[in-house]
Amino acid sequence: MLIRVDDVYKHYMRQQAEIEVLRGIHMEIAAGEMVAIVGPSGAGKSTLLHLLGGLDRPSSGTIYYDNWALHQFRDEELADFRNRHIGFVFQFHHLLPEFSALENAMMPALIQQRAVHEARRDAQQLLGEVGLGDRLHHRPGELSGGEQQRVAVVRALVNAPDVVLADEPTGNLDQAMGQSLQQLLRRLNEELGHTFIIVTHDREFAAQMDRAISLVDGKASAV
Ligand code: ADP
Ligand code: ADP
Repeated sequence: MLIRVDDVYKHYMRQQAEIEVLRGIHMEIAAGEMVAIVGPSGAGKSTLLHLLGGLDRPSSGTIYYDNWALHQFRDEELADFRNRHIGFVFQFHHLLPEFSALENAMMPALIQQRAVHEARRDAQQLLGEVGLGDRLHHRPGELSGGEQQRVAVVRALVNAPDVVLADEPTGNLDQAMGQSLQQLLRRLNEELGHTFIIVTHDREFAAQMDRAISLVDGKASAV
Protein backbone atom coordinates (compact mmCIF):
# COMPACT_ATOMS: atom_id res chain seq x y z
CA MET A 1 0.00 0.00 0.00
CA LEU A 2 1.44 3.32 -1.06
CA ILE A 3 1.42 6.01 1.59
CA ARG A 4 1.41 9.62 0.46
CA VAL A 5 1.65 12.64 2.73
CA ASP A 6 0.62 15.80 0.95
CA ASP A 7 1.40 19.22 2.46
CA VAL A 8 0.61 18.25 6.03
CA TYR A 9 0.65 20.88 8.76
CA LYS A 10 0.08 20.31 12.45
CA HIS A 11 -0.13 22.94 15.14
CA TYR A 12 -0.93 22.76 18.79
CA MET A 13 -2.20 25.52 21.08
CA ARG A 14 -0.08 26.16 24.14
CA GLN A 15 -0.87 29.04 26.51
CA GLN A 16 -3.02 30.64 23.82
CA ALA A 17 -0.09 30.60 21.40
CA GLU A 18 -0.07 28.46 18.32
CA ILE A 19 2.96 26.18 17.96
CA GLU A 20 3.51 24.92 14.46
CA VAL A 21 5.13 21.49 14.74
CA LEU A 22 4.80 20.23 11.15
CA ARG A 23 4.99 22.77 8.33
CA GLY A 24 4.22 21.29 4.97
CA ILE A 25 5.34 17.66 5.08
CA HIS A 26 5.55 15.83 1.76
CA MET A 27 6.57 12.20 1.55
CA GLU A 28 5.83 8.94 -0.23
CA ILE A 29 6.47 5.48 1.12
CA ALA A 30 6.09 2.44 -1.11
CA ALA A 31 4.75 -0.95 -0.07
CA GLY A 32 7.42 -3.07 1.58
CA GLU A 33 9.81 -0.26 2.37
CA MET A 34 11.49 0.01 5.76
CA VAL A 35 11.94 3.70 6.48
CA ALA A 36 13.50 5.49 9.45
CA ILE A 37 12.25 8.85 10.67
CA VAL A 38 15.06 10.70 12.44
CA GLY A 39 15.51 14.18 13.87
CA PRO A 40 16.15 16.06 17.10
CA SER A 41 13.93 15.71 20.13
CA GLY A 42 10.82 17.83 19.77
CA ALA A 43 11.07 17.86 15.95
CA GLY A 44 7.60 16.35 15.60
CA LYS A 45 8.49 12.73 14.86
CA SER A 46 5.90 11.26 17.21
CA THR A 47 3.36 13.77 15.97
CA LEU A 48 3.97 12.68 12.37
CA LEU A 49 3.72 9.00 13.31
CA HIS A 50 0.42 9.60 15.11
CA LEU A 51 -0.95 11.37 12.03
CA LEU A 52 0.25 8.54 9.76
CA GLY A 53 -1.48 6.06 12.06
CA GLY A 54 -4.72 8.01 12.24
CA LEU A 55 -4.35 8.44 16.01
CA ASP A 56 -4.61 12.19 15.46
CA ARG A 57 -5.58 14.42 12.53
CA PRO A 58 -3.52 17.02 10.64
CA SER A 59 -4.40 20.72 10.97
CA SER A 60 -4.33 20.79 7.16
CA GLY A 61 -3.07 18.65 4.30
CA THR A 62 -3.86 15.06 3.41
CA ILE A 63 -2.58 11.58 4.13
CA TYR A 64 -3.45 8.91 1.57
CA TYR A 65 -3.20 5.14 1.86
CA ASP A 66 -3.56 4.09 -1.78
CA ASN A 67 -6.80 5.84 -2.72
CA TRP A 68 -8.10 6.28 0.80
CA ALA A 69 -7.73 9.78 2.23
CA LEU A 70 -7.69 9.47 6.01
CA HIS A 71 -9.60 12.72 6.51
CA GLN A 72 -12.61 11.23 4.74
CA PHE A 73 -13.08 8.71 7.54
CA ARG A 74 -15.26 9.47 10.52
CA ASP A 75 -13.71 8.57 13.88
CA GLU A 76 -15.21 5.06 14.03
CA GLU A 77 -14.20 4.35 10.43
CA LEU A 78 -10.69 5.54 11.17
CA ALA A 79 -10.47 3.25 14.20
CA ASP A 80 -11.58 0.35 12.02
CA PHE A 81 -9.11 1.25 9.26
CA ARG A 82 -6.36 1.39 11.87
CA ASN A 83 -7.16 -1.98 13.30
CA ARG A 84 -7.28 -3.59 9.86
CA HIS A 85 -4.31 -2.01 8.14
CA ILE A 86 -1.90 -0.57 10.70
CA GLY A 87 0.13 -2.11 13.51
CA PHE A 88 1.65 0.04 16.26
CA VAL A 89 4.73 -0.55 18.38
CA PHE A 90 5.51 2.07 21.03
CA GLN A 91 8.54 2.71 23.18
CA PHE A 92 6.67 1.30 26.16
CA HIS A 93 4.99 -1.91 25.20
CA HIS A 94 1.56 -1.24 26.80
CA LEU A 95 0.96 -4.97 27.31
CA LEU A 96 -1.89 -5.80 29.67
CA PRO A 97 -0.25 -7.19 32.83
CA GLU A 98 -3.00 -9.64 33.76
CA PHE A 99 -3.00 -11.40 30.38
CA SER A 100 -0.49 -13.90 28.97
CA ALA A 101 1.85 -13.21 26.06
CA LEU A 102 -0.48 -15.21 23.81
CA GLU A 103 -3.60 -13.38 24.98
CA ASN A 104 -1.94 -9.98 24.59
CA ALA A 105 -0.79 -10.90 21.08
CA MET A 106 -4.31 -12.10 20.11
CA MET A 107 -6.02 -8.91 21.30
CA PRO A 108 -6.18 -6.92 18.01
CA ALA A 109 -7.54 -10.00 16.22
CA LEU A 110 -10.29 -10.40 18.81
CA ILE A 111 -11.11 -6.68 18.56
CA GLN A 112 -11.44 -7.27 14.82
CA GLN A 113 -13.91 -10.06 15.71
CA ARG A 114 -11.86 -12.76 14.03
CA ALA A 115 -12.53 -16.32 15.15
CA VAL A 116 -10.73 -17.16 18.39
CA HIS A 117 -9.01 -20.24 16.94
CA GLU A 118 -7.64 -18.18 14.03
CA ALA A 119 -6.45 -15.42 16.34
CA ARG A 120 -4.74 -17.99 18.53
CA ARG A 121 -3.16 -19.78 15.56
CA ASP A 122 -1.73 -16.56 14.06
CA ALA A 123 -0.51 -15.19 17.39
CA GLN A 124 1.08 -18.50 18.31
CA GLN A 125 2.81 -18.82 14.96
CA LEU A 126 4.24 -15.29 15.16
CA LEU A 127 5.33 -15.76 18.77
CA GLY A 128 7.24 -18.85 17.61
CA GLU A 129 8.71 -16.82 14.76
CA VAL A 130 10.15 -14.25 17.20
CA GLY A 131 11.56 -16.93 19.51
CA LEU A 132 8.83 -16.89 22.15
CA GLY A 133 7.32 -20.32 21.44
CA ASP A 134 8.10 -21.38 25.01
CA ARG A 135 6.74 -18.18 26.60
CA LEU A 136 3.12 -18.28 25.39
CA HIS A 137 1.53 -18.47 28.81
CA HIS A 138 3.89 -16.14 30.65
CA ARG A 139 2.52 -12.79 31.77
CA PRO A 140 4.45 -9.63 30.85
CA GLY A 141 5.85 -9.38 34.39
CA GLU A 142 7.50 -12.77 33.90
CA LEU A 143 9.26 -11.73 30.68
CA SER A 144 12.41 -9.67 30.08
CA GLY A 145 12.13 -6.18 28.55
CA GLY A 146 13.24 -7.53 25.18
CA GLU A 147 10.72 -10.37 25.33
CA GLN A 148 7.93 -7.97 26.28
CA GLN A 149 8.79 -5.78 23.32
CA ARG A 150 8.77 -8.83 21.01
CA VAL A 151 5.26 -9.65 22.24
CA ALA A 152 4.30 -6.06 21.39
CA VAL A 153 5.74 -6.57 17.89
CA VAL A 154 3.70 -9.75 17.45
CA ARG A 155 0.58 -7.91 18.65
CA ALA A 156 1.27 -5.28 15.98
CA LEU A 157 1.57 -7.98 13.30
CA VAL A 158 -1.25 -10.33 14.25
CA ASN A 159 -3.82 -8.85 11.86
CA ALA A 160 -1.28 -8.93 9.01
CA PRO A 161 -1.31 -5.12 8.70
CA ASP A 162 -0.04 -3.41 5.58
CA VAL A 163 2.00 -0.96 7.61
CA VAL A 164 3.76 -1.15 10.96
CA LEU A 165 4.45 2.17 12.72
CA ALA A 166 6.98 2.07 15.53
CA ASP A 167 7.92 4.94 17.85
CA GLU A 168 11.38 4.37 19.36
CA PRO A 169 10.75 0.63 19.69
CA THR A 170 14.24 0.02 21.06
CA GLY A 171 14.35 3.20 23.18
CA ASN A 172 13.61 1.44 26.45
CA LEU A 173 15.89 -1.58 25.91
CA ASP A 174 19.55 -2.10 26.76
CA GLN A 175 21.96 -2.23 23.85
CA ALA A 176 22.01 -6.00 23.34
CA MET A 177 18.22 -6.34 23.49
CA GLY A 178 17.84 -3.28 21.28
CA GLN A 179 20.09 -4.75 18.62
CA SER A 180 18.33 -8.06 18.71
CA LEU A 181 14.97 -6.30 18.27
CA GLN A 182 16.39 -4.29 15.34
CA GLN A 183 17.50 -7.48 13.62
CA LEU A 184 14.12 -9.04 14.27
CA LEU A 185 12.26 -6.07 12.70
CA ARG A 186 14.55 -6.16 9.67
CA ARG A 187 13.99 -9.89 9.23
CA LEU A 188 10.20 -9.52 9.56
CA ASN A 189 10.26 -6.74 6.96
CA GLU A 190 12.21 -8.95 4.56
CA GLU A 191 10.24 -12.15 5.20
CA LEU A 192 6.69 -10.85 5.59
CA GLY A 193 6.94 -7.76 3.40
CA HIS A 194 5.13 -5.35 5.71
CA THR A 195 5.99 -1.69 5.31
CA PHE A 196 7.78 -0.40 8.41
CA ILE A 197 8.03 3.27 9.42
CA ILE A 198 10.21 3.57 12.49
CA VAL A 199 11.05 6.65 14.55
CA THR A 200 14.49 6.19 16.06
CA HIS A 201 17.33 8.11 17.66
CA ASP A 202 19.71 5.30 16.81
CA ARG A 203 21.81 6.16 13.75
CA GLU A 204 23.07 2.61 13.29
CA PHE A 205 19.51 1.31 13.30
CA ALA A 206 18.45 3.99 10.78
CA ALA A 207 21.41 3.03 8.58
CA GLN A 208 20.21 -0.58 8.40
CA MET A 209 16.88 0.45 6.89
CA ASP A 210 16.12 1.10 3.23
CA ARG A 211 16.25 4.86 3.78
CA ALA A 212 15.85 7.59 6.35
CA ILE A 213 13.73 10.73 6.35
CA SER A 214 14.92 13.57 8.53
CA LEU A 215 12.52 15.92 10.26
CA VAL A 216 13.92 19.39 11.00
CA ASP A 217 12.07 22.66 11.53
CA GLY A 218 8.79 21.01 10.68
CA LYS A 219 9.92 19.86 7.24
CA ALA A 220 10.91 16.43 5.97
CA SER A 221 13.93 15.73 3.80
CA ALA A 222 15.88 12.69 2.63
CA VAL A 223 18.98 11.88 4.67
P1 ADP B 1 9.53 14.24 18.74
O1 ADP B 1 8.79 12.94 18.65
O2 ADP B 1 10.31 14.56 17.51
O3 ADP B 1 10.36 14.36 19.98
P2 ADP B 1 6.89 15.33 19.23
O4 ADP B 1 6.08 15.06 18.04
O5 ADP B 1 6.70 14.46 20.44
O6 ADP B 1 8.44 15.40 18.83
O7 ADP B 1 6.63 16.84 19.70
C1 ADP B 1 6.87 17.96 18.83
C2 ADP B 1 6.46 19.24 19.54
O8 ADP B 1 5.05 19.27 19.68
C3 ADP B 1 7.03 19.39 20.95
O9 ADP B 1 7.35 20.75 21.15
C4 ADP B 1 5.89 18.95 21.82
O10 ADP B 1 5.99 19.55 23.08
C5 ADP B 1 4.69 19.42 21.05
N1 ADP B 1 3.49 18.60 21.29
C6 ADP B 1 3.37 17.27 21.01
N2 ADP B 1 2.13 16.83 21.32
C7 ADP B 1 1.46 17.91 21.82
C8 ADP B 1 0.13 18.12 22.33
N3 ADP B 1 -0.77 17.13 22.36
N4 ADP B 1 -0.19 19.38 22.75
C9 ADP B 1 0.71 20.39 22.69
N5 ADP B 1 1.96 20.26 22.22
C10 ADP B 1 2.34 19.04 21.79
P1 ADP C 1 4.94 8.18 23.02
O1 ADP C 1 5.25 7.30 21.84
O2 ADP C 1 4.96 9.64 22.68
O3 ADP C 1 5.72 7.82 24.25
P2 ADP C 1 2.65 6.57 23.82
O4 ADP C 1 3.39 5.39 23.29
O5 ADP C 1 2.44 6.60 25.29
O6 ADP C 1 3.40 7.92 23.38
O7 ADP C 1 1.26 6.67 23.10
C1 ADP C 1 0.92 7.77 22.31
C2 ADP C 1 -0.58 7.80 22.06
O8 ADP C 1 -1.00 6.65 21.35
C3 ADP C 1 -1.39 7.84 23.33
O9 ADP C 1 -2.42 8.78 23.13
C4 ADP C 1 -1.95 6.44 23.48
O10 ADP C 1 -3.22 6.46 24.08
C5 ADP C 1 -2.06 5.99 22.04
N1 ADP C 1 -1.86 4.52 21.92
C6 ADP C 1 -0.94 3.78 22.57
N2 ADP C 1 -1.00 2.49 22.21
C7 ADP C 1 -1.99 2.41 21.28
C8 ADP C 1 -2.54 1.35 20.50
N3 ADP C 1 -2.09 0.09 20.57
N4 ADP C 1 -3.55 1.62 19.63
C9 ADP C 1 -4.01 2.86 19.55
N5 ADP C 1 -3.54 3.92 20.26
C10 ADP C 1 -2.54 3.70 21.10
